[in-house]
Amino acid sequence: MADKIIQLPVFNIKIELTKGTETGNKYAGGQITSDLQEPCFFCKHKFCGMECPDALEWLHDRDLDILHKKLAYIHNYQVNKAATDTLESMILSAAIAGIDVESPSFLEVIETTSDAISKNVPELLEWDKVIKPDTE
Ligand SMILES: [Zn+2]
Repeated sequence: MADKIIQLPVFNIKIELTKGTETGNKYAGGQITSDLQEPCFFCKHKFCGMECPDALEWLHDRDLDILHKKLAYIHNYQVNKAATDTLESMILSAAIAGIDVESPSFLEVIETTSDAISKNVPELLEWDKVIKPDTE
């Protein structure tokens, strides 16, 4: 059970902190969930990285042009995932260390960093018009 739950007003970030047994009032660990990451289109999990069986099956394509687009999409998706994973880790580490993650200045740090990720990670190109699988 969490000893403290922090819900931030940005990206639906929820932080659950647990106290250590030997560290007094300091937090020993915790977990974080947020809307920073796009879930896997296929299994809907945020931790998948589009490596689940359904995603791998979708990846196979005899049309080399489409295969290249799918590979580019998965590459960009995974780069974006690595960046947002890192941002989540930084926020969680800050909360565990006792930094006031609810302060306006820290919320600004989160938003600025998320903007930087969006600008630096290539667009998830052509997903809708070219390679999105049929879900009918
Ligand atoms: Zn998946």
